[in-house]
Amino acid sequence: MTALALELSGVRASYGKVEVLRGLSLGVPEGCVVALLGANGAGKTTTLRAISGTMPIAQGSIKLHGRRIDGRSASRIARGGIALIPEGRGIFPTLSVRDNIEIAIRCSVEGGASPSSRREGFDRIVATFPRLGERLAQSAGTLSGGEQQMLALARALVARPKVLMMDEISMGLAPIVVEQLFETVRTLKEQGTTILLVEQYLTHALRLADICYVLAKGEVIFVGEPAELRDPETVSTYLGV
Ligand code: ATP
Repeated sequence: MTALALELSGVRASYGKVEVLRGLSLGVPEGCVVALLGANGAGKTTTLRAISGTMPIAQGSIKLHGRRIDGRSASRIARGGIALIPEGRGIFPTLSVRDNIEIAIRCSVEGGASPSSRREGFDRIVATFPRLGERLAQSAGTLSGGEQQMLALARALVARPKVLMMDEISMGLAPIVVEQLFETVRTLKEQGTTILLVEQYLTHALRLADICYVLAKGEVIFVGEPAELRDPETVSTYLGV
């Protein structure tokens, strides 16, 4: 059996008095893509926030490669190898594409090493995202929505994360752009990246994922292979769509 990169057991978390994660348990095996699905307000974003340390948990545990990370600061969790691409991207819009990538490299552990390793990191990113390579001098804010999302992905990958978490990367993008973006995510999967994905675009999520979790009211109500969620009746039962 593949080892779990990430493991949540009985996680509970609240915003004030409102409990939004109610004993959530899930596992992300190494090298797999796991899709986190569910209706609006189910707790998907909160789950990613709990893992990344920006939302404290009240109960349960979160482990990265078997080591507890809950209770650690968000920056320590990021250094430990969990990257989160939040909804809304998180890039520097007034800086060039090159500067956005170089800053990410300089801030990564690897970047502290030597100019040649920085160069290598830069070339690796440009090879994975040739579209960005063609636009290095352009300011990031003038990139198309899809390209900005690619830049956010590129920045997250600089640190070679153990787990890459993505929160609705297709949000607000045209279908053709979403298609291209998911092609990039597929390449990352083929390179062996472990991915936890929150996604509204069901078709893409199901095509890419190895395992799907469906959340409702902060609890897992379904876990299984994507094929089990292709049947329209099952989809309507679990996702209400
Ligand atoms: P969506 O698909 O709409 O983004 P989601 O599954 O990601 O939904 P969450 O964003 O995790 O859902 O929200 C879970 C619940 O927590 C929702 O009922 C939401 O209103 C509530 N919530 C989220 N953020 C806060 C906050 N900062 N303060 C209070 N309640 C919040």
